Amino acid sequence: MQKQFKDLNISSHIEKAVLDMGFEEATPIQSLAIPCILEGKDMIGQAQTGTGKTAAFGIPLLEMVDPDDNTLQAVVVCPTRELAIQVAEELRTLSKFMKKIKVLPIYGGQPIDRQIKALNKGVQIIIGTPGRLMDHMRRGTLEMDYVKIVVLDEADEMLDMGFREDIEFILRDTPEDRQTLLFSATMSRDILNLARKFQRDPEFLKVVPKELTVPETQQIYFEVKEKMKLDLLSRLLDLYNPNLSLVFCNTKRRVDKLVGHLQVRGYLADGLHGDLTQKQRDRVMSKFRNGKIDVLVATDVAARGIDVEDIEVVFNYDVPNDDEYYVHRIGRTGRAGKKGKAITFVSGKEIYQLRNIQRYTKTKIEQQEIPSLRDVQEVKTDLFLKNMKNIINTEDLEKEIHIVEKVIEEDYTSVEIAAALVKMTMNRENNIVNVNSSPEGFGDTGARPDMVRFFMNVGRKDRVKAKDLIMAIADKTGLSSSVIGKIDVYDKFSFVEIPENSANSVLSEMRGSKIKGRSVNMEPANKKS
Ligand code: ADP
Ligand code: MG
Repeated sequence: MQKQFKDLNISSHIEKAVLDMGFEEATPIQSLAIPCILEGKDMIGQAQTGTGKTAAFGIPLLEMVDPDDNTLQAVVVCPTRELAIQVAEELRTLSKFMKKIKVLPIYGGQPIDRQIKALNKGVQIIIGTPGRLMDHMRRGTLEMDYVKIVVLDEADEMLDMGFREDIEFILRDTPEDRQTLLFSATMSRDILNLARKFQRDPEFLKVVPKELTVPETQQIYFEVKEKMKLDLLSRLLDLYNPNLSLVFCNTKRRVDKLVGHLQVRGYLADGLHGDLTQKQRDRVMSKFRNGKIDVLVATDVAARGIDVEDIEVVFNYDVPNDDEYYVHRIGRTGRAGKKGKAITFVSGKEIYQLRNIQRYTKTKIEQQEIPSLRDVQEVKTDLFLKNMKNIINTEDLEKEIHIVEKVIEEDYTSVEIAAALVKMTMNRENNIVNVNSSPEGFGDTGARPDMVRFFMNVGRKDRVKAKDLIMAIADKTGLSSSVIGKIDVYDKFSFVEIPENSANSVLSEMRGSKIKGRSVNMEPANKKS
């Protein structure tokens, strides 16, 4: 049922914007609604919260509005000011390569003069709350005569909030031959009545949530602010220390960003998404299988093709836009009789999507408190002690005992010696996650914190540009290009900043490589250079 955006007959600048937003494929409601709206039909679209209804009408709306005509052509009615602003933002992002399109949210609480001024400049699309829209219509500050499309977004909410009369007023005052689109998470008699009154022969497009069976997996979720998600993930990775974990993001963009952040923090992480070549994908997968990466970050589409056993934890960094995705995602863990763990991060209105998932999958996803740093420390200490006891019980320690005995002869007690060793070892282990520790071996290369600056013997004379260096490094080492830092290209040489945790591996993997036919020599820079 799901379609690729390129198969939806949308123009190239919108497709480009969608790809820039990192959407990999259209959601089910988008796949159904976009072609129908483009055909000019009236429609009712029913799909759960979080399934991408905004773009489902937003894309065809932008497609159908005439950018060379400055009159108002489309009106979206939303229940609240927050939603009006959000929808306007999404439409602006979708139209970022369509310079002539102007989108304006209008809502109560904002000075009406300011809105009138903005309206007078000429906008093709407005997104408004019912009350404020009516206000403008009554004042005659909204010219509705050329409106071709009216969208009622979140129609169920608007009716619940008592906006029925306002909506009817607005619809009655727009040209009769307009196209009327109605979107809602739920259906009711009121909505159908509205449709009967104001729509012509509407298509009823419904995405029915499927009955889904969820595998035997321990499912938990954390409520977390969007900007704290990265910290939470780091903390949980430290806490559970899983051998292999899979982290899902909803867009390619978010995959790239997260991989960059994790790499800078020293995790062995890499990403998979639809923009990678087959060769790059194969490289990432083989690194994952061979344990060179232990955190794989992926989009749903990219993860479909992969087959790895023994994934201990699946993280939903974002709540998926589709219940089925959730089931697929968590089905990646707990195979081969083992019970896996699925952890979902929920921020803001993602909670509604999670509720839907629980409802349709008939599972209980248990909320947990975010573990404190002290919890993490405790678990790490436990793990450390467990490993140590294991060594005492199973390994030959004769040589080491001899060393300790020599220190005891110098009048230190064995307890003191053990304590010092614990301190040294635990500090070293903690350094792995402590981004502020300075890298061993490189000294000060004049890089920004957490980075190492490298000298490379290629430059402008070799027709090398910054972009070539980024591509060569990303391609050769698999380091995601987004984490490569400052680049300076001079005539005969260049400087490149690499996150210090990846510096050693980049250095060794770049050995013997060529850029634009030139053999590359790469070495840590001197501070002054
Ligand atoms: P709804 O109106 O159905 O509740 P939204 O339109 O608000 O859902 O979309 C929810 C989230 O999903 C938004 O962050 C949006 O950017 C994102 N989204 C929409 N379409 C896609 C897609 N095709 N792929 C990935 N994410 C998407
Ligand atoms: Mg919506």
